[in-house]
Amino acid sequence: MKRAIDTEVRPLGRSLASRYAGQTVVAIGAHPDDLEIGIGGTLAKLQRVGARVIMVIASIPKDFEIRMEEAKRGAEILGCELKVLVKNGPKRLEDVKNFELVGMLDDLVREYNPAAMLTHSNSDFHNDHLLIFNACQPTQRLGHFDLFSYHPTNCRPVPVQFHPKIYVDVSDSIDAKMHAIGAHASQFGGRGLDTEMYREFAHVQGRMVGCSYAEGLDVQRMLLA
Ligand SMILES: [Zn+2]
Repeated sequence: MKRAIDTEVRPLGRSLASRYAGQTVVAIGAHPDDLEIGIGGTLAKLQRVGARVIMVIASIPKDFEIRMEEAKRGAEILGCELKVLVKNGPKRLEDVKNFELVGMLDDLVREYNPAAMLTHSNSDFHNDHLLIFNACQPTQRLGHFDLFSYHPTNCRPVPVQFHPKIYVDVSDSIDAKMHAIGAHASQFGGRGLDTEMYREFAHVQGRMVGCSYAEGLDVQRMLLA
């Protein structure tokens, strides 16, 4: 007789709390809304389990005041601290010299000494997102933090080459994620775009790992001890 598989069996020490409680996690997005779309559920969950979470926006290309207010609201909903790297007004990221961008990210690592960094993926198609992905790579020489990439972020669904290696169960924080995405009204409701696809996508990812909602991450570097 075949024995039923116990679907409740999970690896020990699997929780975000066991890995990051009491530590600092730095999440970097090129623009306001990238972090909410890519890992809003993960960031809310990290904060709830006792991590200090810094949401970093590299630059705001236009509508500076409006998008800054939306970013503040998004971070507040997720319970995270907000930091904007280019904070003196609107600036396109490609107008920042690469060595300056690398220097700003180096300064972040020196300031926060993170246990983990989350950034864009090299399978993203937005050049600003790729600039951030690339500028994050050399920061690995400064410390032994975990480094993850999140799913390419966009306002409309498009096919991308992204293959998660790990998944974060965000069943308890999917509502916070959706609420935080909604804070960016100028990008969605203001342009007649629906945000519900992000909930549906998290639901599909959750089905792959046996939970209601999940966010997939690619792993660039992670120490198992
Ligand atoms: Zn972006």
